[in-house]
Amino acid sequence: MQKNILIIGAGIAGCSLAHFLANTGWAVTLLEGQDNIAQGGSGNPVAAIYPKFMLNDQAYNDFMLKSFIFTTGWIKELKLDKNDYKFNGAIEILDQEYAHKLDINLSKKILDKKTFLSVMNPSILKKYNIDKNASGLLFHQGGWINPIALCRHLVNHSNIKTVTNQKVKSIEKLNLEWTLETDMKKKFMAHQVAICNAEYIHKFELTQHLHTDAFRGQINWVNQTSLEVPSIVSCDEGYLAPPIQKKHIFGATYAMNDFEEDIRLSDTRKNIASIKEIHQEFYKYCLKQESIDGRVSWRASTKDRKPYVGRVFNNDLFKKLRVRELAHADNLPWLEHLYVSSGFGSRGFTFAPYCSFVLANLINENLSREDKETLNYTNPERYRLKKMSLKKVASQIFQV
Ligand SMILES: Cc1cc2nc3c(=O)[nH]c(=O)nc-3n(C[C@H](O)[C@H](O)[C@H](O)COP(=O)(O)OP(=O)(O)OC[C@H]3O[C@@H](n4cnc5c(N)ncnc54)[C@H](O)[C@@H]3O)c2cc1C
Repeated sequence: MQKNILIIGAGIAGCSLAHFLANTGWAVTLLEGQDNIAQGGSGNPVAAIYPKFMLNDQAYNDFMLKSFIFTTGWIKELKLDKNDYKFNGAIEILDQEYAHKLDINLSKKILDKKTFLSVMNPSILKKYNIDKNASGLLFHQGGWINPIALCRHLVNHSNIKTVTNQKVKSIEKLNLEWTLETDMKKKFMAHQVAICNAEYIHKFELTQHLHTDAFRGQINWVNQTSLEVPSIVSCDEGYLAPPIQKKHIFGATYAMNDFEEDIRLSDTRKNIASIKEIHQEFYKYCLKQESIDGRVSWRASTKDRKPYVGRVFNNDLFKKLRVRELAHADNLPWLEHLYVSSGFGSRGFTFAPYCSFVLANLINENLSREDKETLNYTNPERYRLKKMSLKKVASQIFQV
């Protein structure tokens, strides 16, 4: 029997899931509401890829590390055009004491730490043209990717049919098949469906409880100059990318639940200010420009910074079950053949490819121990279970 699946949303979450499923024999129909793929958060001219660790959240750091190692290794294997990505290092500018503590924490986790990261020192600053007073960490395998080129490459597969201008309005199960209806009343049917539509996930009745905050983000760029700017991605409060597609790209500002689509001068100014510590000369150059281009898009963030990746409950069954019945992971009322992948926050290009790989393994019923751990961590129903004091059950949906 042909395995077919509908995927809603053609950003990095939907495109990478389509890719992994197509490679394992699925016929994928990828439905995108806009007139092209990678038009939302995944449509910026550059995405920085580096592991952003927390000082006191070991589980998050484990997830970050797994995602980063998977995604950078996988991208290198994809045979993308060499102008569309580079993993020659990424710098995270941090307070000196914070960087020092993080370095000590990571020593316990990362076996070959020397090849993974270095604490910033004068020779690193000089080598990469960063201003002299910065402190922080250099991640040797970090870098950047052209998001649109990546998404295009992923869906260029004979098993993937991409259909644009299809804004899905409803999802219903009719005669054992999922039936999706668009705002133009067009219908699509398949046995399985995956919802990868970022901050719009709550718009569907089945997933309306999955709360995300939409953060408006603005990036800016100027045409390439002869200035010797940092030669690798450098992240402070904002980031400055090395020259890509003859542009110096920098940003981003973030504002929660702000839906202004136009470029805002005040945000451009904030983006310029955020590169001051990275490169004074470039900062001064940007200040002098009369007009500066940019792009606005949104990212979906969850309250606990963990994405929603996995299955959701059948709401009717869930309402009927008592707390003590839900206390056993085996009794949880999962909705069959419906999957979600959303809430990747500011690290979508590190997290989403890895999560899509794991989700494809779930759909293929081929989970490793590590996949199960990841799905326990990203369980989309964690908030509903937590509310019923079943936080432990939420992280034990798969036995490991
Ligand atoms: C300004 C900015 C800068 C960023 N910089 C970085 C960075 O440097 N590095 C990094 O890793 N991450 C970065 N991020 C975050 C990253 O862009 C996101 O995490 C990532 O793009 C999320 O991918 P996604 O596929 O979940 O969502 P999206 O890329 O937003 O894709 C969702 C898609 O679903 C479609 N859709 C929505 N509803 C429907 C519907 N009903 N029917 C059909 N289609 C629908 C949308 O049109 C959209 O194309 C940045 C985000 C912003 C906003």
